[in-house]
Amino acid sequence: MKTILPGSTIGVFGSGQLGRMFAIEARKMGYRVHTFSPASDTPTGQVADFETSADYNDLDAVRKFARSVDVVTFEFENVPSHTVEAAAHFVGVHPRGEILHITQNRLREKTFLLNNGFPVTPFYHIKTLGDVKNAISAIGLPCVFKTAGFGYDGKGQKKIKSQDGIEKAFVNLDFRDAVLEAFVDFQKEISVVCARDQKGNFAHYGVIENKHANHILDISFAPAIISAGVFRDAIEIARSIAEMLGYVGTLCVEFFLTKKERLLVNELAPRPHNSGHLTFDACVTSQFEQQLRAVCGLPLGSPDFYRPAAMANLLGDLWQNGEPDWTETLKTPNVKLHLYGKAEAKRGRKMGHLTAVAESSATAVEIIEKARKRLGLC
Ligand code: AMP
Repeated sequence: MKTILPGSTIGVFGSGQLGRMFAIEARKMGYRVHTFSPASDTPTGQVADFETSADYNDLDAVRKFARSVDVVTFEFENVPSHTVEAAAHFVGVHPRGEILHITQNRLREKTFLLNNGFPVTPFYHIKTLGDVKNAISAIGLPCVFKTAGFGYDGKGQKKIKSQDGIEKAFVNLDFRDAVLEAFVDFQKEISVVCARDQKGNFAHYGVIENKHANHILDISFAPAIISAGVFRDAIEIARSIAEMLGYVGTLCVEFFLTKKERLLVNELAPRPHNSGHLTFDACVTSQFEQQLRAVCGLPLGSPDFYRPAAMANLLGDLWQNGEPDWTETLKTPNVKLHLYGKAEAKRGRKMGHLTAVAESSATAVEIIEKARKRLGLC
């Protein structure tokens, strides 16, 4: 195991807000950051030391990037496998390329989870319209049709409510490989953000509770309001998944908690996650610093919370009448504003977030909702 010390350069595939917050933490600890993505003047590039703007398939550019950095990680999992392999030829990549390969495809991910005994929503592999019909007779309606690759924030998925919806959903999803899964009438959605270092040590932020709007994360708070048994099981599942994958870095395991108090793993994110943004302001060590420590071969930091916290996303919709009036929001003294430096505010695009800390997570949610309302919309 090689320890990558401060002063070294960390390479990051991807250039969004996760890379930006990672870069802020890395620079705080005296590291340099080099981001690689097809775009320029990106949220990560704006705070990194170096920004390469090249296609992920430009393997010459990938090799040049890999030779110039001391270790590579990513903030975006849809990096092609051959790109990661090309980089791994020159430099350590964490988490490993095989993990990326599994988690960037719902079918591979769900199959991995099922084969290793983790609880998942019942699902079927879909290739043809006939497969959809067979799967529906097994699972029943409603159900959810999801493309296997490149889906996030509800993109590439469609709820099927009736037999009539089958063909429409099938055609509209720009069909490649897909999965059909049972619709879970869940009680709540929760996540475990955790980290595993190169020696196998494990740290977690407890259980975070998540509320979505239009399939996009809207509000997260911690600690989640759940029983001790659900807490224990969720952490144990996350720990076992990280262990089984030989994971190095920050990992998020997203769960559905059913009305019968059963946990089902919905998705894995092999990187810091939106539901863990509140750790930036509320914890001794943020999820981004944990990622940095893990990939550099350093010991993990304490994940302890200073206080309960809540986070609310700020989507592009808030910009429809121009730049929101931030001074109004900042009148609430314990609300922190994070903006990602994105030039164009599109509907549904994550532009920033607010975090609040309070004596309880329920109070933090009240504060954050009020603070966001002051911005208009929502
Ligand atoms: P995903 O991209 O799979 O994380 O889905 C985004 C959101 O859509 C989830 O966080 C849920 O709110 C909702 N969703 C996805 N799959 C299902 C399902 N099988 N049953 C109920 N809701 C779902």
